[in-house]
Amino acid sequence: MVFVFFGPPGSGKGTQAQYLVKKYGFRHISTGQLLRQEIQNKTALGLDIKSHIEAGELVSDGVMLELVKNVFRDKNSEHVIFDGFPRTVHQAIAFEGILSVNNLRVDLVINFEVSFDHLLERVKGRLTCKTCGHVYHEVNNPPKNVGVCDFCHGVSFEKRNDDEDSALKRRFELYKTETQTVKDFYSDRGIVVSIDASLAVETVKKNVEEALADLGIVS
Ligand code: ADP
Ligand code: AMP
Repeated sequence: MVFVFFGPPGSGKGTQAQYLVKKYGFRHISTGQLLRQEIQNKTALGLDIKSHIEAGELVSDGVMLELVKNVFRDKNSEHVIFDGFPRTVHQAIAFEGILSVNNLRVDLVINFEVSFDHLLERVKGRLTCKTCGHVYHEVNNPPKNVGVCDFCHGVSFEKRNDDEDSALKRRFELYKTETQTVKDFYSDRGIVVSIDASLAVETVKKNVEEALADLGIVS
């Protein structure tokens, strides 16, 4: 099945997806992470998109759709979570075409609802493991052993450039003007479940699992 985790930057989509990967072996496709890998690997695409990402702008629909097509060329998994995609209605429509070629469709959209105040505090404290990309929060969700990644045991962490003020402001703006309407696209299909993502990580985990259990996906 295909799930879309939908919500503004910092709403906790990646955190919950990481958890489902670990517990149930779901595949997690974060388009932001795919793009950051391109930048880190200094590929032609990475060089092209770096300035867009650092400014908080969206990467073009054409580039995003090519990246997502490749996801299905790589391998198949029973359950795949898309996090950060689609971000425009054009992406959502084209995604339907990509999925149908693979005999798939979006089965469930989990809408992460959270107030702006929570978002700022979360994004400002976000830390990413430099080795494996696992996401933590300095205060709310630190690694179990200070300074050591729970997953890969890496010891270097970084803050994202685009979590700085001006890029962040632009990302929130674009969420409101370009992305929010994607929810209506999926609401019209009756596949959106909204959760209160302002609660503590463990409570949100429980609520996400309940939404999946209601569909018989986990028990
Ligand atoms: P997104 O993928 O939606 O941008 P993340 O999963 O990266 O969001 O979470 C943003 C930040 O907030 C991270 O530092 C993460 O550890 C923290 N976080 C995620 N969920 C919660 C929560 N429910 N309560 C408090 N902090 C959270
Ligand atoms: P994220 O990791 O989801 O916060 O994404 C980080 C950045 O990557 C965004 O601010 C955009 O610049 C870019 N990006 C990620 N996903 C998309 C997408 N679906 N469409 C356009 N740009 C994207």
